[in-house]
Amino acid sequence: MQLRIGNGYDIHRLVPGRPLILGGQRLEHPEGLGLDGHSDADVLVHAVMDALLGALSLGDIGKYFPPDDLQWKGADSLVLLEQVVALVAERGWRVSNLDTVVIAERPKLKPHIEAMRAAIASRMGLQPDQVGVKATTNERLGPEGREEGIACHAVALLLQP
Ligand code: MG
Repeated sequence: MQLRIGNGYDIHRLVPGRPLILGGQRLEHPEGLGLDGHSDADVLVHAVMDALLGALSLGDIGKYFPPDDLQWKGADSLVLLEQVVALVAERGWRVSNLDTVVIAERPKLKPHIEAMRAAIASRMGLQPDQVGVKATTNERLGPEGREEGIACHAVALLLQP
């Protein structure tokens, strides 16, 4: 059996007048802020896609879904994730597991973690126990700590029987 590992990272700015979507879930920020971006700016799903692509050295999501391509404006990132999973499957690989950590001061993510795991798992054809989603604050340090943005790190392990 062959194994491949990949990592992904993303950050998007928190701005007024945008929805806050993480792991396919619509959340409410206490100040009404949301994530800015060309697509729905779901940093969690973007980091997962980059981890999957990275594991097979396929580049990054900007290569497949360029931000200057109107086709992806407002795109549901879970739909983009399905396309990345299809690329992985076409090459004969499957996902063993993912693990992620979202860095956000607010809102509290804990009540939404199970729904995020379930949404990501179902779009990827995985069980929720193959999808780790963790959340941390940045102890008010740096851009995440100042609530200028929300970031996410992800790792993915792929296997080929
Ligand atoms: Mg992104």
